[in-house]
Amino acid sequence: MKQGVEEIYAQFKALARIPIKPIAAICRALFGGSLTYPEFGSQTVDMDDISLAQSLINKPETWLDEGPIRKYEKRFSEWNGSLGACAFMGGRIALSALISAFQLKPGDEVVIPGYTCVVVANAFLYAGIKINYCDIELDSFGPDVNSVERAISSSTKVILIQHLYGLVARDLEKILSLARSKNIHVIEDCAHSAGASLNGRKVGNFGDAAFYSTEQSKIFSTFNGGIAVTNNPDILARIENYRAQAKFPSETQTKKLLLNFILSYQIYSDSWRWLTSAYLRYRYRNIILQSTTPEEIAGVKPDDYGQKMPAPLAELALSQLEKIDFNNQMRRENANYWEKVCKKKGFKTPLVIKGSVPVYLRFPVIVSANHKCDIRWGMQEFGVRQGVWFKGELHPTASLMENCPNARLAVEQCINLPTLGFNV
Ligand SMILES: *Cc1c(COP(=O)(O)O)cnc(C)c1O
Repeated sequence: MKQGVEEIYAQFKALARIPIKPIAAICRALFGGSLTYPEFGSQTVDMDDISLAQSLINKPETWLDEGPIRKYEKRFSEWNGSLGACAFMGGRIALSALISAFQLKPGDEVVIPGYTCVVVANAFLYAGIKINYCDIELDSFGPDVNSVERAISSSTKVILIQHLYGLVARDLEKILSLARSKNIHVIEDCAHSAGASLNGRKVGNFGDAAFYSTEQSKIFSTFNGGIAVTNNPDILARIENYRAQAKFPSETQTKKLLLNFILSYQIYSDSWRWLTSAYLRYRYRNIILQSTTPEEIAGVKPDDYGQKMPAPLAELALSQLEKIDFNNQMRRENANYWEKVCKKKGFKTPLVIKGSVPVYLRFPVIVSANHKCDIRWGMQEFGVRQGVWFKGELHPTASLMENCPNARLAVEQCINLPTLGFNV
């Protein structure tokens, strides 16, 4: 596998030397559009992160060091304004740690939006908890407070509030007071929204606890990863206890993760991806990891579920944290551009609630159902490739929920535009 890394890296360096700009200009003249449209992975990863991954891959003796992990957790919680944090091998694992910390048990119920990732539902189902789905609103794609209220039962222990696409959820404060009045815990799903804030306070500090994802398509990337935060010392102690009992990925798994970090940069961020990504996907098909496996899509718990983050990924996270504020500012500036484009073309733009500063992981726009999956239309209308999150109400499965008409509408009609790495 070592040879694999060096090969990928050498190819990368060779490709990076080819002057892309004149060729892009010729493509634009010939085809009327850029052929270097962005994909949605690894958008915050730069060459310095790749060099770091390359050096870490050669030092397996450091992979179980606790130092970088504690440093990352401390720096993230300070940056986020939270009491403490624990890093895991996915946002979904961070959520499982919170489910354990809240001592949820079979028979308890939770309310989660019927417009989320299947792995969020799985984290509850694996723990034997019953899910009542609520609908979303179509202003910021967060849970709709009226629908949340209808989904609550006497066994409801947790409400999950998601801040989707980097927007602060419209009904955040109403849902918080509803939960408080009924003694229900709130977990914030901040997988899309690390750094977004309301009245100067970052999201993830409004409920009882929160989780973030550093999967490659999120606000910052360690290829796979997640982190749980809280401001409650008792909850923090229990998350730390969950982490203490969790395993690290094996040496082979860690090596694969680092390789995928490098490879995915080349597949997604490299300006030659339209020539090289198909080749790379084929050439390295035995190495490429999927963030959600077919068994997870089928609702089966993987054998190695529940791992904590090893040192090299924590080092990459620290490197990514250095640039998170800069990248989030760029995302806002680019969102400003989409805002103007959408106003001109008559598309509704997402709601930014009073006092909030979003981070726009993507810029969501409702279009006609015919246009949602028509990439040619998207290229003509916006000059970029549009994203199709979410393909189902439990992404990436195709399942559709009863009684969530807004979620259904979003599945059928919401596209999302890139906020980094595009050039129009
Ligand atoms: C990606 C995502 C998650 C899960 O994060 P992982 O790191 O992939 O486990 C949870 N919720 C939402 C809304 C997400 O987009």
